[in-house]
Amino acid sequence: MSTSAHLPTEPFAAPAGAARTGGTVTDRLVDANHLYAAGFTDPGMDARPVLRVAVVACMDARLDLHDALGLSLGDCHTIRNAGGVVTDDVVRSLTISQRALGTRSVVLIHHTGCGLESLTEDFRHELEMEVGQRPSWAVESFRDVDQDVRQSMQRIRTSPFLLHRDDIRGFVFDVKTGLLREIDPVT
Ligand SMILES: [Zn+2]
Repeated sequence: MSTSAHLPTEPFAAPAGAARTGGTVTDRLVDANHLYAAGFTDPGMDARPVLRVAVVACMDARLDLHDALGLSLGDCHTIRNAGGVVTDDVVRSLTISQRALGTRSVVLIHHTGCGLESLTEDFRHELEMEVGQRPSWAVESFRDVDQDVRQSMQRIRTSPFLLHRDDIRGFVFDVKTGLLREIDPVT
């Protein structure tokens, strides 16, 4: 796979009818926000998640966390990145989530058909060749999604910064069926 470091330079190609004529995709989002705000009433919520749970998940566009998990506005923190990887920055967010905003459970969600399964750490090398600088971050690609969920659970469990490490569960979301499959942390 190429690095994909070359982003397309042509305007975003929205599906027919998806964007207003001549508008960018961001214009479309701003238009949608105006409609949203027109029907919005302040729910008067506290910033602390009602269900006291943080969900760490892949950024994959097919994964609608709120619908898939029956969550409502205000229920949880959602922390997402490519792969749902437990990076230092995810630990930073979880630490703030637990220590400042009262969450105590962590749910990890990876998924079938993840883009990280088709990448390797060569991606970093290719980037370096292209731009003359090696990224400081690891790609965190993987071959075995179950094992990657286990590793992510382990990273949270061994973090000294978190207050609550007794309710950490990991799952693989099947993008074809919508079902979660729980991963046994000790297999
Ligand atoms: Zn993914």
